[in-house]
Amino acid sequence: MRYPLSPRYRITMVDEVVLVTPRGFCAGVEMAIKALAWMVNAFPAPVYCYHEIVHNRIVVDRFRDAGVIFVDDISEVPPGAPLMLSAHGSAPEVVAAAKALGGFVVDAVCPLVTKVHHEAKVRAGKGFDIIYIGHEGHDEALGTMAVAPDAMHLVETPDDVAKLTIDGPVALLAQTTLSHFDWADVQAAAQERFPEIWVPGHSDLCYATTNRQSALRAVSDGADAVIVVGSQNSSNTIALAKVATAMGAPRVLRINTVEEVPDDLHGRVVVTSGASAPDGLVQAIVNRLATPDKVRHERVIDEDEYFPLPRGLRDFVSSVAAVWAYGLGAPIPASGPATGDRDVRASDILDRLPASPASLASRARLTGPASN
Ligand code: SF4
Repeated sequence: MRYPLSPRYRITMVDEVVLVTPRGFCAGVEMAIKALAWMVNAFPAPVYCYHEIVHNRIVVDRFRDAGVIFVDDISEVPPGAPLMLSAHGSAPEVVAAAKALGGFVVDAVCPLVTKVHHEAKVRAGKGFDIIYIGHEGHDEALGTMAVAPDAMHLVETPDDVAKLTIDGPVALLAQTTLSHFDWADVQAAAQERFPEIWVPGHSDLCYATTNRQSALRAVSDGADAVIVVGSQNSSNTIALAKVATAMGAPRVLRINTVEEVPDDLHGRVVVTSGASAPDGLVQAIVNRLATPDKVRHERVIDEDEYFPLPRGLRDFVSSVAAVWAYGLGAPIPASGPATGDRDVRASDILDRLPASPASLASRARLTGPASN
């Protein structure tokens, strides 16, 4: 993908762009995109995906172009059709219904969401009521609540904690992608109300959520504006915007296309992105804001997390290694496909997915005009 470089296209009042690292795709999103790309290349269309693979319109549209049908109800999937379950994690009954259809099923739940599911199951089994801090209606919250529906109490605010009627032992779990500020306030309220409450040794906020928020906090002082690239329905994207607001940024913008960048930005603009936003889009937005000499790269935290493909898919990949090269454009690794995908970027895979001319034109509108 190529990005706009024409000075006429740029906003000239921006003095400096601070581009934050880490940002963008996390290990869970990388894994999920690679897994679905595998499915697309290994099976005739359509491949089905339960829920949006990740909460980003551009990513979802790329897969739609490539023949993926996204559904919110497993009953919409024909028996025997290849099916992937999204990275947000699915309710146990959804996983069971998916398997009962008899097709090839890949559960691309992020391992860090699985960890919370496991905690919920274990604590509920020990008789705990579980206070779960999460966003009502979010796919991850729906899946986690369904693990122990009789024991879970969804809360979003300290007020919600005050309204709970619980006797007996209490545990505290959380959605992985919350804003640190939201989570800390509710945790404090829960610990005050239930002093004996069990909390995990490590916060359920995942490494990617924590790192992106910490990095933004480290560089947002003195910014005239903060741009968070990502979709409106992406929890960790919204969380980043909340962090920027809490840090006192005078202007905070959550945007998901180049077209949404306003013309009146000026001074110092900090740019970061949620864990489901493709970096090609971030680069296009940065190009809209400033020439490369005005872009300062701020690497605050190094990340090298990697999640291998889901086990069922790894076994499948091992048996059709030739498809590997075709599917991901990578050489067939001597060590096997399970490790070979580490050096292939999910954003490159997205760019190589099949697309119609109309879709390519639409992409150009979303990411800006191509340069020469
Ligand atoms: Fe996993 Fe965190 Fe990425 Fe969600 S944001 S997919 S929990 S690594």
